[in-house]
Amino acid sequence: MFGQGINDFYNVRDAEPDENGLIEAALIPLRDMVIYPNMVTPLFVGRDRSMAAIMAAQANEQTVIGVGQIDPSVPDPKPDDLFVFGTEMALGRLMRMPDGTTSVLAQGRRRVEIVEFTRTENYYRVKARPVFENNKKTRETEALMRAVLALFEKCVQLNRNLPEEAYIYAMNVDEPGWLADLIASSLDLSIEERQSILELIDPMERLHRISVLLGRELDVLELEEQINSQVQQEVDRNQREVYLREQMRVIQSELGEADIFQQDLNDLRERIDQASMPEEVHDKALKELNRLLLMPPMAPEVGIIRTYLDWLLDLPWTKASEDNLDIEHAAKVLDEEHYGLPRAKDRILEHIAVRKLAPDKMRSPILCFVGPPGTGKTSLGRSIAKALGREFVRVSLGGVRDEAEIRGHRRTYIGALPGRIIQTMRRAGTVNPVFMLDEIDKLGQDFRGDPSSALLEVLDPEQNNAYSDHYLEVPYDLSKVMFITTANILDTIPPALLDRLEVIEFAGYTEEEKLSIARRFLIPRQLEQNGLADKGLRFDEKAIQTMIREYTYEAGVRNLEREIANVCRKVARRVASEKSFTRRITPDSLDRYLGPAHYLQSKLEENDQVGLVTGLAWTEGGGDIMAVEITLMPGKGNMLLTGQLGEVMQESAQAALSYTRSRAKALNIKENTFEKTDIHIHVPEGAVPKDGPSAGITLATALISAFTGRKASSKVGMTGEITLRGRVLPVGGIKEKVLAAHRAGLKKVLVPTRNKKDLIEIHKKVLRELQIIYVDSMDEVLEQVLGPAARKSAPPRAKTAKPKTSRSRKRPARVPASVGVVTASGT
Ligand code: ADP
Repeated sequence: MFGQGINDFYNVRDAEPDENGLIEAALIPLRDMVIYPNMVTPLFVGRDRSMAAIMAAQANEQTVIGVGQIDPSVPDPKPDDLFVFGTEMALGRLMRMPDGTTSVLAQGRRRVEIVEFTRTENYYRVKARPVFENNKKTRETEALMRAVLALFEKCVQLNRNLPEEAYIYAMNVDEPGWLADLIASSLDLSIEERQSILELIDPMERLHRISVLLGRELDVLELEEQINSQVQQEVDRNQREVYLREQMRVIQSELGEADIFQQDLNDLRERIDQASMPEEVHDKALKELNRLLLMPPMAPEVGIIRTYLDWLLDLPWTKASEDNLDIEHAAKVLDEEHYGLPRAKDRILEHIAVRKLAPDKMRSPILCFVGPPGTGKTSLGRSIAKALGREFVRVSLGGVRDEAEIRGHRRTYIGALPGRIIQTMRRAGTVNPVFMLDEIDKLGQDFRGDPSSALLEVLDPEQNNAYSDHYLEVPYDLSKVMFITTANILDTIPPALLDRLEVIEFAGYTEEEKLSIARRFLIPRQLEQNGLADKGLRFDEKAIQTMIREYTYEAGVRNLEREIANVCRKVARRVASEKSFTRRITPDSLDRYLGPAHYLQSKLEENDQVGLVTGLAWTEGGGDIMAVEITLMPGKGNMLLTGQLGEVMQESAQAALSYTRSRAKALNIKENTFEKTDIHIHVPEGAVPKDGPSAGITLATALISAFTGRKASSKVGMTGEITLRGRVLPVGGIKEKVLAAHRAGLKKVLVPTRNKKDLIEIHKKVLRELQIIYVDSMDEVLEQVLGPAARKSAPPRAKTAKPKTSRSRKRPARVPASVGVVTASGT
């Protein structure tokens, strides 16, 4: 700032004001700069006008006035192109610069306001009024100066372009206006801002403006500092990592490990090239392999990428087994391994036939085998695979709630794996296995997503040629897979899913069917498996029958097979320890092998009773009978329901009660009985029905039996929904229910007329032994079940009633009206 020639300034005095307080001086237009009082700055002089002004001033050792151009780009500014406020300044000696320009040092003296131009030829002369600055210091100015200084100090610390001397110099300035000018000149401001500070006459105002500008500058500087230090940290860390990796590489190569790793990667590359993957998958595998190449062998990602590559390599992408489309062969396999099941077998044979005729058009059907456990769904699936010559795989979906279990976790999760579908495909090893999805009726659903939506994609022929697994990241083609799903019941299968399935029902077996299955399949298999094939062990027909009747109680044959296996094992033990054993298994010897019978007692009440009715229920284990028990007690018309009753069942009870009340007169029930009676409905026994309206007519019958005191026949079972007007509506699961009724030894079953179609496939023998009555209305139901009215219509009165407190009758009721039992059906 203080260059040579500084002494020249001392020869130049400030211009003397005339009587009007105005000074007169030559003017230099300034381009792109503002000069403050007390500042010393070099000026570069280019324009003739400016040069003439300087020469004139220097000839008389006078000051000049520097004024900014409003528009710096104007080459020869007129008076109107100049600001009004400028600075009177002293000039040093002119100096020629090496590049041919001329420069001169200028020292600002004071602010001036131009009043008029007195000469415009050659150069400008002006009259101007020096600005008086009030530099008196008050406490307030003092405080403001200190604050500004403190801010400036921080700026100097943070800003590398500001030398520390700038602060020291500022510290030694004790005029507020000067301080403001000094700081303004050292900050990086726009030309407009500089001019506006020049025009601020009041030193306090100027300081205020400067403090604001300093605050803004500090904000920017601090942010810059923060960014710089982050960048620095990042750079440091990267350098450190590079350094450590390099060290590790050297150590590993010393130990010879790097070579092994390299060898490994080469092997992988070869395997990738040999695996016949689709192009997209191949590219992906190579990309991952290249990532591996760039990593040191010990990096944690190495294991993750290797596992991923192993998955890609192990999955079948193109390998398929060749279909055996020989229909006779298929029919033989299916018949050899399974008794009955005509519909399922036919459907498979049809499928094979169509494939043979139109091999490319055909999409695999998605079958859904529905039926109670142990009815051969899984084992038929296995036989289908065998008949077609395909691999067989199965996966259970029971209790799966998380979509990720089906679709896998993204690789970013620690320990991520593909979902069950892809895992199972790896097990299958071919792209066209028979793939059994078990228990799709037991899919869960919660906040972790809806697994059924993933299944929809699996089972949709439009989409499953590019099935996406989160882990795999590349699409996988499932379109060659033959999917078979299984379920115990249809109701809980999400409708969108059910829509895609071709349902084939597996009803439970009758006793005769079970006998045949046992004789032809289960016994030979168990003998084989227990090493008794050549030991001449025989099961009497009667023994098998006893096992079916007294040791098992099921729709399928799973437990029967278990009991047969049980007997075989016991015999095998004797054979192995070379003890004598009976070659004939008779009903009497069962006791010895299997212990006492489990199901000796019939579930049926022996005697007909009031308020006890037999219903038919459809449960996950097939059909079952279910006793509905009703007790009446003096009370206030409340209804209590116990046993495992769902909401729909409770509504059925309400409907049954409303129907009963509406028919009270016809049924000979006294009108006010209902208000004075509490009803307790109970469904005992473990045969827990699924919730549904099919217990409607059973509940109504039990209620009417209880209220009228007419006994209900325990040998008649029933199922049907009831309307408020007493019509009987059709319900589900009829086949299972009828088979259960037969199993339980009922003689008569009441079934809604509109369910007639469901009974077409029922075994003839069942229909011979079990009378099926189709009903449309409650009147028909009551006619079949209820006995004659008691001679005197007995008022509903429970044994537990407190006779003394009840005013109504002195004589205790003869009939405990409370005990009507009807067998009801859950749908
Ligand atoms: P599900 O899958 O329906 O629960 P499974 O397929 O596991 O039943 O069948 C249980 C057992 O019963 C198997 O050993 C199966 O071979 C046998 N089984 C069931 N139905 C038949 C049938 N119709 N013919 C021959 N065996 C059968």
